[in-house]
Amino acid sequence: MADQDAFFVRFWGVRGSIACPGPRTMRYGGNTSCLEVRCGDRLLIFDAGTGLHSLGSKLMANGAMQADLFFSHTHFDHICGFPFFAPAFRPDNALRIWAGHLLPERTVREVLIYLMMDPLFPVPIDTMRAKMTFCDFVAGEELSPYEDVTIRTAPLNHPNGATGYRVEYQGKSICYITDTEHVPGHPDENIIGLIRGADIVIYDCTYTDDEYPSHVNWGHSTWQEGARLAEAADVKTFVVFHHDPDHDDDFMDSIATQLAKIRPGSIVAQEGMTLRP
Ligand SMILES: [Zn+2]
Ligand SMILES: [Zn+2]
Repeated sequence: MADQDAFFVRFWGVRGSIACPGPRTMRYGGNTSCLEVRCGDRLLIFDAGTGLHSLGSKLMANGAMQADLFFSHTHFDHICGFPFFAPAFRPDNALRIWAGHLLPERTVREVLIYLMMDPLFPVPIDTMRAKMTFCDFVAGEELSPYEDVTIRTAPLNHPNGATGYRVEYQGKSICYITDTEHVPGHPDENIIGLIRGADIVIYDCTYTDDEYPSHVNWGHSTWQEGARLAEAADVKTFVVFHHDPDHDDDFMDSIATQLAKIRPGSIVAQEGMTLRP
């Protein structure tokens, strides 16, 4: 029986764009985006990057489960773990799947059908026997997956759209803001509105401010911009996330060192880490 007051986020994948396992990324981790958020005995999963595979293996050991899977968006690095999520193949499991960037042209069910379609994948989505419910919404709407869990959302600035989330439980909050691009000198008001006063904000920090000018319009932000937003919105703990696959452990250490000077108490996400608001 879970502790009803428990509220935490665990990182199963912290990397952006492509998985990059190996000796260079051993400490921070090589899997792409996947978070486990627990609100008492409720299980919320954010994104289905390659990190989802290991989370699925852990859940299989615990018997039947019910979970909500929220997509920031459906670029490949955020969905490629979905076909390898073992709990989705068990008939006694239930999964609600949410996305806020696809309507009105598409639905999340359609996108996942494509993902597992011949000749891209050996078995179709029908092979997954869990009870699946698909919940498309429009970023900006407030979601209430459970009566004691409120999720506020906002649209992000990303090619093909993306959704930022703020999970509120027992008076505390965890925000998940990826993938998104900033406009230098113009703080994103959608994001500031969503993260204001939050306990934990996990933010797309793919680049550094020095690297950003050669990646304009690629849809990503910098750790310095994340720190500026966290400061402007009075955020308690700012978390660097969606690491560039070319940034090895030593590079990530140097970001952590610089960040500690600018905003002490900030965290550079590592695979396997758990944070409590
Ligand atoms: Zn991404
Ligand atoms: Zn993306």
